[in-house]
Amino acid sequence: MFCEREVQEKLIQYHHLIPKSKDGKDTIPSCPSCHNFIHKTWTNNQLRDIYNSIESIRSTEDYQRFVKWLIKQPVEKLFKTDRKTGRDKNPYR
Ligand SMILES: [Zn+2]
Ligand SMILES: [Zn+2]
Repeated sequence: MFCEREVQEKLIQYHHLIPKSKDGKDTIPSCPSCHNFIHKTWTNNQLRDIYNSIESIRSTEDYQRFVKWLIKQPVEKLFKTDRKTGRDKNPYR
């Protein structure tokens, strides 16, 4: 898991460290909110070339800021990152 949120098992999604479309096979479990964030924040090419490990994603400022916010939210809520929304106003929904 990327974050420490406890989500129901049926909600857990599996993220390909290397995108499936780029022949990636290794997956790691992720909560839906983090998974959504990852795919809205980086392109498949970036995921393949740069953010292809848990550590490389966790160490980004973007992800740290997201998680800091996420862990304060009710655990039963799921959040979608909106690519079009300006980060400054209403960052993650
Ligand atoms: Zn994924
Ligand atoms: Zn998460």
